[in-house]
Amino acid sequence: MTDPAQEPTSETATLGHSNRSRVPAYEPFRDQVATTAVPANTDPFSGIDADHDSPLATELIETERLRRTLEASEFPRPSGTRVIAVSNQKGGVGKTTTSVNLAAALASKGANVLVIDADPQGNASTALGVDHRAGTPSIYEVLLDDASIASVAQRCPDSPSLWCVPATIDLAGADIELVSAVRREYRLHVAVSELLARDGRHLDYVIIDCPPSLGLLTLNAMVVATEVLIPIQCEYYALEGLTQLIKTIEMVKKHLNPAIHVSSIVLTMYDQRTNLAREVAHEVRTHFPDQTFPQTIPRSVRVAEAPSFGKTVMAHDPHSPGAVAYLAVAKELAERGVAAGGTQ
Ligand code: ATP
Ligand code: MG
Repeated sequence: MTDPAQEPTSETATLGHSNRSRVPAYEPFRDQVATTAVPANTDPFSGIDADHDSPLATELIETERLRRTLEASEFPRPSGTRVIAVSNQKGGVGKTTTSVNLAAALASKGANVLVIDADPQGNASTALGVDHRAGTPSIYEVLLDDASIASVAQRCPDSPSLWCVPATIDLAGADIELVSAVRREYRLHVAVSELLARDGRHLDYVIIDCPPSLGLLTLNAMVVATEVLIPIQCEYYALEGLTQLIKTIEMVKKHLNPAIHVSSIVLTMYDQRTNLAREVAHEVRTHFPDQTFPQTIPRSVRVAEAPSFGKTVMAHDPHSPGAVAYLAVAKELAERGVAAGGTQ
C-alpha cells in the first residue's frame, strides 16, 4: 500500500469517486497554507521621501508598503462556512475577476476556499487553471444529474487550499433544462448543504461566480448563499440595473431564503484620474455606505492579462496594485464576517 505521506498531492485531481484512492493523504478541503510572515521593521523604503518622487514612484512605494503590511497580518477565519454569491446581472463588471482573486487572496492567508463556477462561460475555471473542457465533470452534473460537489471539485494548481467546481459549455442549456427539474431553485442548496455536512465541513468560504443574468443559475446561487457581493464597475451606467438586482434579492429573501442580504460592494476597474470614476464611487457609497469597501480595485493590465496565463492576479503578479487591492478587500471581508458574528 502506498504511504500516504509519500503520495504526491495531485494539483488537479477531482475529489472523491474515481480519484479519491489516488489522494488519500489529505482530508478534502482541509489543507492549510503556511503563511509567510514578513519580519517587522524591514521597510526598504524607509528614508525615501515619497513626496520628492514622481507620482508613479510614490504609488509603487505605497502599494508595496501596503502589500507588506497585509502579508504580515493575520486574516481572521470565520467560525462557520460563509457562502457568498458574487452577482450583478450587468455583464463585464468584474464578477469573475473579483470571485477568483478574493478566493485566491483568502486562500493565500490560510483559508479553505471553494469557488463554484456557475457561469457557462467558464471564466472562473479558466482563471483558476482547472480543466473545464466539454465532458469534464462540472457544476452541470451537480445541478442536473445529482452529482456531489466533492466528486467534481478540482484543486487549483496555484494554491493547495483553493478548490473549484468548474463550469463547462454544457451549462449553457442548464437555465432551460432546470425549468422542468424538481425543486429547480434548490438544486445548488441541496448539493452545498450535503457538502458542508461532510467532505466540505472545513471550508471557510464558498464563493459562487454568477452569470450576467437573473435566471435560474443565479437564483440557485441566491437560494444557498447568505451573502451577496456585488461588484460595480466605475463607469457610466454602473448603477443601472442595480435596482432590479436588489429587488430580485428582496424577492428571494421573502420567498426562498430569509438569510440572504447584500453584505458587500466592491468598486472595480477604478481609475482615480477620471471624474466619472470618482462620481460613481461617491454615488455608490452614498447609497450603500455600510456595504461598500473603502478599498477600490484599480483598472490594471496585470489583472486583465492574468486569466490568459490560467492564473489569478494573486499568483500572476502578487506585487501589482490590482493584487494588493484584492488582498486588502479580502482582509476587510474576513474582518467584517467576524465582526458580524462569524458567518454573517
Ligand atoms: P461576465 O458578466 O461576462 O461574467 P464579469 O462581470 O465576470 O463578466 P470579468 O470577466 O471579471 O467580468 O471582467 C470583465 C473584463 O474586464 C475581463 O476582460 C477582465 O479581465 C477585465 N477586468 C476585470 N477587472 C479588471 C481590472 N481591475 N483591471 C483591468 N481589467 C479588468
Ligand atoms: Mg464572469
